[in-house]
Amino acid sequence: MPAAPTAAPTDAATELLAFDREHLWHPYTSMTEPTPVRLVTDACGAQLTLGGPYDGREVVDGMSSWWSAIHGYRHPVLDAALAEQAASFSHVMFGGLTHAPAVELGRRLVSITPEPLQRVFLADSGSVAVEVAMKMVLQHQRGAGRPDRTRMLTVLGGYHGDTFDCMSVTDPVGGMHAMWRGLLPEQVFAPRPPGAGAGAAEVGAWARTVRRIADRHHDELAGIIVEPLLQGAGGMWPWPVACLQVLRDVADEHGLLLVLDEIATGFGRTGPLFASELVVPDLLCVGKALTGGYLTLAAVLTTDEVARGISASEAGVVMHGPTFMGNPLACAVASASIDLLLGQDWAGTVERIGARLRSGLEPLRGTPGVADVRSIGAVGVVQLDREVDVVAATEAAIEAGVWLRPFRDLVYAMPPYVIADDELDRLVAGIGAAVRAG
Ligand SMILES: *Cc1c(COP(=O)(O)O)cnc(C)c1O
Repeated sequence: MPAAPTAAPTDAATELLAFDREHLWHPYTSMTEPTPVRLVTDACGAQLTLGGPYDGREVVDGMSSWWSAIHGYRHPVLDAALAEQAASFSHVMFGGLTHAPAVELGRRLVSITPEPLQRVFLADSGSVAVEVAMKMVLQHQRGAGRPDRTRMLTVLGGYHGDTFDCMSVTDPVGGMHAMWRGLLPEQVFAPRPPGAGAGAAEVGAWARTVRRIADRHHDELAGIIVEPLLQGAGGMWPWPVACLQVLRDVADEHGLLLVLDEIATGFGRTGPLFASELVVPDLLCVGKALTGGYLTLAAVLTTDEVARGISASEAGVVMHGPTFMGNPLACAVASASIDLLLGQDWAGTVERIGARLRSGLEPLRGTPGVADVRSIGAVGVVQLDREVDVVAATEAAIEAGVWLRPFRDLVYAMPPYVIADDELDRLVAGIGAAVRAG
């Protein structure tokens, strides 16, 4: 082949973007009428570098690549962990084989989560972890001689992933249950819990409703699944620990297993390392920040009792085993990420970020178009009184030097923990710009 003419960098970017537009699906984006995507050419610390028309502009990342990049990008410790593991082996099957990276990660997960959670299933994505957790719940009930208990109780406004069973416990509107009627398992929904500031009366009223629903369905319910303390992709909704305790009590009253999906909120994002420290579940799902955003990996942790229940079911084993289960690269970087997190004052960092987001965003309350401002841990949320114009809001944020990805009526941020105070100030300004433009 004749040598291709050397293209100027911008031409290369234009070509990449053109191919992308023609051929690559992006999350929740039309293939035929796609909204714009921006080309990332580099990422370091809390900043992304945008190529093509943005010509190398650096933007502060407000999204942590969807909750995952807690240590920012190109962290030397995580880079080294990955390179070191790659130099020995990158992957082997987990069926019949094991390796130090998986064992070391398992050891850490068992030690940093509540004592009863001793058994670990390594999954290759958050959705798969939720699938596995729900499968475990059903198998445990079968093992306990209750095969008719096949439904999950959850609350409105949740998000648990995009595969079919995950969609079934995701909010019916967001999960478009109407479109999938007859295909999705029909789960039992309780109202969304009241907001984080709710008083005893509101919590009590919600608890009575949940109890009524659980009573009505108790002979068909197998478990309860929720995102503790903060509903993420279902609406960025912080909710009280008192309501979480209600769900624990209801589970105990009816012999249900409680699954806490901490895939978005784990690793300190909402304040505690895991909300499961406050109310201990029977099953815990982690993902997203598990590898510091380097590779896809998730895990389900559960108790000896649940493990025994599964063994008593007719299959005797968890009927699940992904090809890339326990991927050594992902496990190695996950252990390094956990050590990095626990080796610093992560709680102080989360508090610092939260305080600065709160003081920065609070002035937006009551301004035109803003319906609510709320926060929890290192998460700040501005809810508009209308659907956000995502394209306009995103452009305004980039103009202000910030990367945001608003959805529905929400402009929000959960930045990498390595973000500096001046970057946080820029982030707050970018959220303001997005709110005004969107
Ligand atoms: C993102 C998310 C999932 C799904 O994880 P994937 O890795 O995208 O499959 C499940 N539950 C919650 C709470 C999430 O935020």
